[in-house]
Amino acid sequence: MLNRPNWLRPALLEPLLAHQERLNNRNDVEQDEDGYFLYDLDYLEQHLSSLMQQDVIKLWFAVKANPLSRVIKTLAQQGFNFDVASQGELTQVLAQDVPADRILNTGPAKSKRQIKAFLEQGVRTFVVESLNQLQWLNDAASELSCQPQVLLRVQLQWEEGEKNPLGGNEVTAFGLSCQAWQTIKVSDFPALNINGLHIFQWGNMLSNERMFELWSQMVSPLLSLAEQLGMTLEVLDLGGGLGVDYLQTGKGLRWEKIVADLAKIKARAGVSELWLELGRFAVAEMGYYVTSVVDRKENFQHQQLVLAGGINHLIRPAITEQPFPVTMIRESAASPVYFDLHGPLCTSLDKLGTLAIASDVAVDDQLIFGLAGAYGFTESMPFFLCHQIAAEYVLQQGKIEQVRSAQPASWYLR
Ligand SMILES: *Cc1c(COP(=O)(O)O)cnc(C)c1O
Repeated sequence: MLNRPNWLRPALLEPLLAHQERLNNRNDVEQDEDGYFLYDLDYLEQHLSSLMQQDVIKLWFAVKANPLSRVIKTLAQQGFNFDVASQGELTQVLAQDVPADRILNTGPAKSKRQIKAFLEQGVRTFVVESLNQLQWLNDAASELSCQPQVLLRVQLQWEEGEKNPLGGNEVTAFGLSCQAWQTIKVSDFPALNINGLHIFQWGNMLSNERMFELWSQMVSPLLSLAEQLGMTLEVLDLGGGLGVDYLQTGKGLRWEKIVADLAKIKARAGVSELWLELGRFAVAEMGYYVTSVVDRKENFQHQQLVLAGGINHLIRPAITEQPFPVTMIRESAASPVYFDLHGPLCTSLDKLGTLAIASDVAVDDQLIFGLAGAYGFTESMPFFLCHQIAAEYVLQQGKIEQVRSAQPASWYLR
């Protein structure tokens, strides 16, 4: 048995090989798949249950990371709550029988109409990102005679020359500065229970020390803001951003340390609840993307593979320059060499990375990418060039089941 990368769970191999065999032996060309996602729900269940073994942090799932029904159901069964940012996400979570009191709404694009619609659908927890949102929510809540819980989303900046824990001062649409929030009084919004602050302006952190340092620096500006606003700070929401080791550097966060660090932050902030909304840290590891090699060539000393699926199914590498790790599904004793991995779209953007693969990789071989459970299917650009929509499968209790088959472009073209 050759060494398999450690992101490829051994228990997945047998069902995966059998599944691939079935796909290869199908003679209906119409049903050929350019690429598919496979989510290991057996692993996800174990992983989520280990995240839930603590009483420091209330956990929410940032639905944008992976809104597939079966993924949401698994998270719900393990006790996660849900952070939605659109009507589409809300509908999908409610359709999995998640009660509305386990849903919160974050996002800079909440219209007056959407806020009212969310209240009508039972959502009672909101992360508010602008003065308009606050006023609209207050108006809608008094009209509907309810009192939603509100967290104000704060965006911090550091003065020039100060040690900047964020590494930059990019201004985004997420939340408002302390100065902007200081113009309000919580007593001016009697229909709302404003009792929390939300802050999240970092991404894919891989160091426990750095994460703790960053959180620590947030506490005092947030406490002063709460005091200035005359609000009782009961909830502190530190968003997501817990990292996944896409580049296989060997670095990564230890969950037990996160829990211990957040217990300290919680005590320093004097809050009764500390929330995180996890995206990738919850679901990246359980997901895989499989596609096949359409062509292989050498071009200006580059070894190139052209794949059946690329950024039409998996755009993240092209927008972050972080490839997903890859290996061939079949075993090979050939030594690895670097290949440029190109997708099927007629744009040079369509590249999944330059990664080492066994040198005997050939046309029709299947490649499997790991850590693809977050920001895959729904983040990509499936329509360009009219290729297929990727299929989605789950592995549960050792069995692979199809959740949605691949779909031809005629499915959406009019
Ligand atoms: C996307 C998002 C998250 C999740 O981010 P990850 O880095 O995947 O954990 C959490 N909170 C909010 C508000 C988000 O927009």
